[in-house]
Amino acid sequence: MGKYEFIEQALQDLHEQGLYNTIRTIESSVGAWVVVEGKRVLNMCSNNYLGFADDERLRTAAKDAIDRYGVGPGAVRSIAGTMSLHIELEEKLAEFKGTEAALSVQSGLNTNLATIPLLMGKEDVIFTDELNHASIIDGCRLTKAKRVIFPHRDVDALRQALKENKDIEKKLIVTDGVFSMDGDLAPLPGIVEAAEEYGAMVMIDDAHGEGVLGSHGRGIVDHFNLHGRVDIEAGTMSKRSG
Ligand SMILES: *Cc1c(COP(=O)(O)O)cnc(C)c1O
Repeated sequence: MGKYEFIEQALQDLHEQGLYNTIRTIESSVGAWVVVEGKRVLNMCSNNYLGFADDERLRTAAKDAIDRYGVGPGAVRSIAGTMSLHIELEEKLAEFKGTEAALSVQSGLNTNLATIPLLMGKEDVIFTDELNHASIIDGCRLTKAKRVIFPHRDVDALRQALKENKDIEKKLIVTDGVFSMDGDLAPLPGIVEAAEEYGAMVMIDDAHGEGVLGSHGRGIVDHFNLHGRVDIEAGTMSKRSG
């Protein structure tokens, strides 16, 4: 096959598997109702749970920030792109979540891709729930660490896997908080207990818990009152805020 045929074939495979996606285009601001192809339609599939995407206060704050700072930092954070706005955001986030510090990156996907490989190398082991979000799976795949996939929400199986790998010094347990497809919760108290018993780090992806669970929407760690016992909380601004 020539190179164009590879592409044709890939598209045809998508069609055959029923995975070819025609993307709808929204022509209005995002609320309960949106305009698609000139028609006003009820939006039943967005993440804008709290309606922040079109909130007047946030519109105003964004315009004020643009007037003051422009529309971009002109460099990545690590070179010359860190602005006082980033620091202010991170300090507020850490205070809100009750954590030591916070770091903002471009998206939830980037958070998982940045954090997991940073922590885990080829001598290490990651325990990951079988229904974890695709971005966690990708974050794990970017490492050379051993991966142990445990059955969904199964603390006993996790404990068994920890036991079998107890000789590996650096261990990380990573799980969605509120699972993104089914909406069920990770059994975080049991996971934290098992982790403490075996000296494993715990990372929770709270993308769907923030703004929803816990006091004032602080998320799953607050919901289960586990402050100080979860090592890393990942999240995203792309959910609940739209
Ligand atoms: C949506 C989601 C992400 C990715 O967040 P983005 O900001 O859209 O990249 C990561 N983890 C979970 C659990 C999610 O639901």
